[in-house]
Amino acid sequence: MNSYDGDRLRTAMIHKGWTETPDETADVVFLVTCSIREKAEQKVASEIGRYDLQFRKTGGPILVLVGCMAQRIGREMAKKFPCIRIVSGPRHLGLVPQAVEDTMQDGRARFFFDDDPRALDDLEVVPTERTNPFKAFVTISYGCDRFCSYCIVPHVRGRLQSRAPEEILTEVETLAQTGVKEISLLGQNVDAYGKDGSGGYGFARLLDDVSKIEGVERIRFYTSHPKDFDEDILEVMARAPRICRAINLPVQSGSDRILKEMNRGYTSAQYLELVAKIRAALPDVSLTTDLIVGFPGETDEEYHMSYDLLKSVKFDIVHTAAYSPRPGTRAAVMDGQIDKRVKAARLNEINEMQSGVARELNEAYVGGTFKVLLDAPAPRGEGLLQGRTMTDKVVIVSGNVLNLGQFVDVKITGASHWSLQGERFEGE
Ligand code: SAH
Ligand code: SF4
Repeated sequence: MNSYDGDRLRTAMIHKGWTETPDETADVVFLVTCSIREKAEQKVASEIGRYDLQFRKTGGPILVLVGCMAQRIGREMAKKFPCIRIVSGPRHLGLVPQAVEDTMQDGRARFFFDDDPRALDDLEVVPTERTNPFKAFVTISYGCDRFCSYCIVPHVRGRLQSRAPEEILTEVETLAQTGVKEISLLGQNVDAYGKDGSGGYGFARLLDDVSKIEGVERIRFYTSHPKDFDEDILEVMARAPRICRAINLPVQSGSDRILKEMNRGYTSAQYLELVAKIRAALPDVSLTTDLIVGFPGETDEEYHMSYDLLKSVKFDIVHTAAYSPRPGTRAAVMDGQIDKRVKAARLNEINEMQSGVARELNEAYVGGTFKVLLDAPAPRGEGLLQGRTMTDKVVIVSGNVLNLGQFVDVKITGASHWSLQGERFEGE
């Protein structure tokens, strides 16, 4: 969501006549921030400290602090760091581009907070100036109503609000016309899409309609919620080959007591039942999940229930996190906060086990040939490109930037826990 917001802000500023430039020569720097864990905020705070030193010496650049951290603590941050001149919560981005110009004129700081969790002043702009030309995100809904007890999202991103289907479909059409091959539909809980309206137009229908748009070769979506997951989605996926065979279905814990304390709305048995249904409908699906270790009161036994669940389901990827107390959430004041070292040990152990599972699943790809969209230079290595399969596996192949944006058949020759290596398949 932050990438999407960043791309939209970039597009809006370029439309206003601004130019993107390296940090050293910038008049204005935008920071699109995250509050999900303390570590995310610490990273931003240290970046701001660096800019602030420069600002105190040279009077520039000014900072625009937007997103969840801006909403949560933007006012205090601006008091501490005079370089921050504009602060906006995630639901007021529409006011930011003009505010930047006004502040450049009069030097006054400007603050836009989402005090009303239903108010929305969004940027009416399609992100045509993207960090990646071939892939684009599209937000389908704002906010979240689930209030999981550990989570800051409903507090900083406000209540669920679904975008109108026509708006989303027009945005996807525009993106397809500007060369986008892959669309990722985004929502904190995509399965809740449309459930705040009265029309009965839900996520399955949206997915079906997006999959019919000419030019979009691949469609992904994040994130599904086990409690709201509608089985019609599986029917749509089974008959629409352009919808990627990948579902991120956060489980968060394997213990029913902890799931209840988290306010997740399902038991581990219900979760496993859903996994079985998904795998029956889509045998080639790749399943990923999110998991928190060290939630308040989590005993060793309860932690092991998470460990065992991961081991038995065999997820392709697990986004693991040590529980981080977020001020204002219910869990932050619960008894039984777990010691940092215990959380770290649980995290290490579970990550190590998961690496083994992921390597094993990836090794099963070796020898096969898969269609890959080459979408970026590989993070390491000259002359290497990175792409993804339909099941969202990262594949590294040789190639040059001219090959970016192409679909190629790749024969998989090697596998590690996080990626596959391959050779472009020329036929035999
Ligand atoms: N809407 C999605 C994910 C939202 S946040 C969902 O319902 O799952 C992304 C992930 O961050 C979560 O899945 C969770 O695993 C993690 N997370 C959220 N709050 C956290 C916290 N306080 N401490 C540690 N991890 C957290
Ligand atoms: Fe946070 Fe996701 Fe729960 Fe919403 S559903 S409160 S975003 S974890």
